[in-house]
Amino acid sequence: MSVFREDLLASKVALVTGGATGIGREIARTLGRHGARVCIASRKQENLEGTTGELRAEGIDAMWLACDIRDGEQVDRLIAGVRERFAALDIVVNNAAGNFPAPITGISYNGFRAVVDIDLRGTYNVSKAAFEAFLKANGGHIVNITAPFQNMGVSLQAHVAAAKAGVDSLTRTCAVEFGPYGVRVNAVAPGATADTEGLDRFEGVEGAASDSPCPLGYVGSKQDIANMVLVLVSEAASYVTGQVIAVDGGTSIDLFKLSLPES
Ligand code: NAP
Repeated sequence: MSVFREDLLASKVALVTGGATGIGREIARTLGRHGARVCIASRKQENLEGTTGELRAEGIDAMWLACDIRDGEQVDRLIAGVRERFAALDIVVNNAAGNFPAPITGISYNGFRAVVDIDLRGTYNVSKAAFEAFLKANGGHIVNITAPFQNMGVSLQAHVAAAKAGVDSLTRTCAVEFGPYGVRVNAVAPGATADTEGLDRFEGVEGAASDSPCPLGYVGSKQDIANMVLVLVSEAASYVTGQVIAVDGGTSIDLFKLSLPES
């Protein structure tokens, strides 16, 4: 059961990129369960249709639009589609991303570019288009889904870490430039999150985050991440902007991950 009122986001419209799967789907559902009308956007139509059906079955006013967020013209059409159906946009969650574990020498030129294009340029494209079309006039929220490791060296994630460091930077710049228009811009950095494709891709990678203990002692859930997004777009966070909030059970502040002696 949510600690927030069911009508917390009544009359609000939310756009969640990558909202058909994984963490994005849980974010879309959580915003919808609190009264928001929701548009999910990504590339694969079958996933979009399936998730939209599930959201509607829960009573959420949901729509989908196919969009490759790397393409500015597709993003402009996405924003126009939201306008056509909902005539408003208050909350943008930049969740869509690409990932695969590989060492620097194992990433192709195209593979590196694709991840930076989706994670960083896609976040920029959607943020810029949504700000110009809606948020600049009416205020609102942008929440970027980033990662908790880009300020450290991390093996097999050169492309993702570089892209997410850019997302963190963009979060702060958007917060500064959009703040005067009543737009708060923050980022949520999930730790290893159970039951996601993102985590499944690390199956078999020795020492993967899912195997390491964190101070809270368990792998987080998609709901843990969605809850923080909900907090950030609520009045509970009314004076918070430009922040990157780790939702990772303390993984990122536990440098040596040493075990305590048995007591
Ligand atoms: P996921 O299930 O793989 O979701 C990624 C989504 O992005 C998919 O719905 C995908 O849909 C969409 N997408 C990919 N490329 C796109 C493009 N060019 N245009 C539009 N949509 C695109 O991932 P997840 O594991 O839930 O992760 C969600 C977010 O959390 C990501 O930002 C990820 O970096 C972050 N994160 C996850 C974890 C974790 O443990 N899972 C940990 C740290 C951070 P299509 O392929 O249909 O386009």
